[in-house]
Formats: sequence, structure tokens, C-alpha cells
Amino acid sequence: MKILVINCGSSSLKYQLINMENEECLALGLVERIGIEGSILTQKASGEKYIIEESMKDHTDAIRLVLGALVDPKHGVIKELSEIDAVGHRIVHGGEKYASSVVVNDEVMKNLKECSKLAPLHNPANIIGINACKALMPNTPMVTVFDTAFHQTMPEVAYVYPLPYELYTNNGVRKYGFHGTSHKFVSEKAAEMMGKDIKDLKLITCHLGNGASISAIKNGKSIETSMGFTPLEGIAMGTRCGSIDPAIIVYIMQELNLTIDEVNDLMNKKSGVLGISGVSSDFRDIEKAAWEDGNHRAQLALDIFSYKVKKFIGSYAAVMGGVDAIIFTAGLGENSPETREDVCNGLEFLGAVLDKSKNKVRGKAVELNTVDSKTKIFVIPTNEELVIARDTQALIK
Ligand code: ADP
Repeated sequence: MKILVINCGSSSLKYQLINMENEECLALGLVERIGIEGSILTQKASGEKYIIEESMKDHTDAIRLVLGALVDPKHGVIKELSEIDAVGHRIVHGGEKYASSVVVNDEVMKNLKECSKLAPLHNPANIIGINACKALMPNTPMVTVFDTAFHQTMPEVAYVYPLPYELYTNNGVRKYGFHGTSHKFVSEKAAEMMGKDIKDLKLITCHLGNGASISAIKNGKSIETSMGFTPLEGIAMGTRCGSIDPAIIVYIMQELNLTIDEVNDLMNKKSGVLGISGVSSDFRDIEKAAWEDGNHRAQLALDIFSYKVKKFIGSYAAVMGGVDAIIFTAGLGENSPETREDVCNGLEFLGAVLDKSKNKVRGKAVELNTVDSKTKIFVIPTNEELVIARDTQALIK
């Protein structure tokens, strides 16, 4: 069985074609600048790169080109589209309606539209992606996999905000949490590496990428996570501020005469480690500025980031009454030994002792703790596309 995984953003689209017999990725690609000048598709398959630079006025154009690239006689990996057994779509927001993945039907499409209010930047693009696929592959089953679904197990004490309760019941204002497929994947993999049943474990998963979130996973269920009503809550990120005193927003709007859009842009795109360092949102640039150029603000950005992660780990251990393993994943978590060392430094009181020589690893699933560390520490590369493909396969069988 071959499954196409689609992750549609507002002007970009990522895809992977996965052979489920051996879970091998046959081709992966990225389409950028959809609907704007300079549209480009880059596909990697069998160690080769295939680039198409062609105008794409919308996502239907983009998906048409993706399907064309997959069946291309020279650069493609399949002969005809009928070889694709199903399509799995990553959907950012499923609201409270979806605690697991579902097969797309008219009711699902209606509910997705309703959830667009909660994720105006993401869900509309996801819906356009599904409609484009439906138009081009009308007989192929589609499945939606939600970023929020894994966190639907959180208890009320974790997801209700201390605001007037009606804002929850009437307006859906509550903590939803994101990166669910990633937290699920790495927690299950950690249990497997520990040779234990996940139902007996207390895990803290740290998804540290450009967007970053931390989750407390008790007995295989997400019981707390750092992102909230939107992906803006939690730790400082590449460009997002994470949790701050909400009064700051009112204050800077008044002081700097900012509109709603401007303050939204400031918190989402100009803050985080970019805002602190003034250097970049990419941790590689910040690490270079801090370590090679001695840039104080760059070092401060790194220090603040690790400090926030450490604070969440401590509080999640308290919430679960202990922790059996701490797991690092995503771009930074997988590739920055220095960040992992900073975060773990001082966590010995939780029984977590990092082995610095084991920690020199990048992009591999490895145990990083010393032999006598009571709490395990892992780096585990995430694979959200594989979770989407597995869910899709399970639902259409
Ligand atoms: P997202 O999916 O949220 O865009 P990723 O999980 O791909 O993010 O992570 C991207 C981030 O990972 C980059 O901003 C970069 O800072 C960080 N990163 C990737 N490779 C390295 C590396 N070798 N060293 C330090 N940071 C890295």
C-alpha cells in the first residue's frame, strides 16, 4: 500500500509518498510560493533532486504538479496515480470534535470549516488541500490527522483557562495543544526503547523546532502541554514569544499605538529568540553569533530558551508525580547537543543525569543518560509524516 501525506500551509505544501510495506519514503517534496510569483516545487527521490519552476496560482495547481512529479517518467516513483491507495492530510486544528484521525466525508469538511475560526492561518489552507486532492483524485480515500487530537485526553484542570467560564462553553476558548503527532510518535518510540509498556510510564517530550512545545504524557496519554488555545503559548520559540504577562499586550498597544494585526505580528513573527537576539530565528545563526562572535543578546536568547524548557520539565514532573524519561526531538532537539546539555544541567535532582559523551549525537534515536541515571534521557528523531501515513492506513483498511 502506498500513501501520500500532504501538509498544506498558506503558501507552501510539503508531501511524502510512503510505501507502507516497509514504511519507506519513496519521494518527498516541498512546494513554495503558491499563489505568488516564483512558485517552485522541489522533489527528492532515489537520491535525486527534481525541480519544477512553474506558475501555480493556487493549491489545486500545486497538487496537480505534485502528482505530475510523482508519475513523471524520468523523475517519478510510480507509473500511475491509481498506485496511491489513500491520502493522509495533516490538519492543524480539530477543536474538541476530534480526539483521533478520521476518514474525510461531508460532515468532516463542515466541522473543519467551523474549526477554521480557531486556526485562521492554518485550517483554511488544509481545507483547500483536501478539496484540491478530491478534485484530482475523486476515487482515492482521504484521511485527516489532527495536530490537536492527541491532547484531547488532557483533564479539565489542564485545559480550562482562569477566564470567565462562558468563554470556554460559548467560544471554545481552552487549551488545545499542538504537535500531537510528534509527541505521540516519540513517546511511543521511547517506551519501545525502554522495553516497557507506555501505560506504565511518565514521559516528558520536548519538541524543539522553530515552533516548540513540551508535553507531559502519563500512561500513554497527554495530560498537559505547553502550547494552548493557539501555538503561541508556552516556551519562547523561533519567532513566537510564548507565555508572557497578558497585560503587556494592552500596554504596548497603547504605548506604541499598535493595531490588533500589528501586535499579533509582533508576538508571532518578531519575538522569541529572534526578538531577544536581534540576529535570527534560526538557532544555528544564534549559536554562531553567541559562540564565535561573543554576542551577548544571542547568548541570552539561548539561555532564556533552555531556561524555559527546564521550567516546563520541572513543572511537568510535579504534575505527573515523577518522570521516567525526558525526550528531545525536532530540528533543535535532534541537532543541538548544547541545548540538550543546557536544559539537562541541574535536572539531577529529578534523577536525570546526562552523559556528555553520548550526547554528542545528531539526528539518531539514542539513549543519552549515564548508566546509573534513574531517569532516562533520549534524543528521538520525530516522524510526523509516518504517524499520518500509519493512521491513514489503519482507517482505510
Ligand atoms: P519547524 O518544523 O517548526 O519549522 P524544525 O523542527 O524543522 O522546525 O526545526 C527547525 C529549527 O531547528 C531551525 O530553526 C534551527 O534553528 C534548528 N536546527 C536545525 N539544525 C540545527 C543544528 N544543526 N544546530 C542547531 N539548530 C538546528
